[in-house]
Amino acid sequence: MEREAFCVKCRQKRVMIEPREIVNRRKVRMLQGDCGTCNKKINTFIRKPTGTVTFAKTRRPPKGRTEAPPSNPEKPASPRSTGADSS
Ligand SMILES: [Zn+2]
Repeated sequence: MEREAFCVKCRQKRVMIEPREIVNRRKVRMLQGDCGTCNKKINTFIRKPTGTVTFAKTRRPPKGRTEAPPSNPEKPASPRSTGADSS
């Protein structure tokens, strides 16, 4: 699966080349890679598996389509401990 991140140079979302996990100065885990278009370094936040992100809203598919079956991309989340300690 390809990761995408916002490139400040392209001002668009670009596919991340060779994404790797880093920790920024605020000790937040991020994903850093290279822009597939201009090779500038781009990074994006890693989604936390725990439900600590409050601004994440659940998107509902627009109604009106009868042909498309109700898709449920959400898989049953595996139980994880809320402790995010990484040694
Ligand atoms: Zn770029």
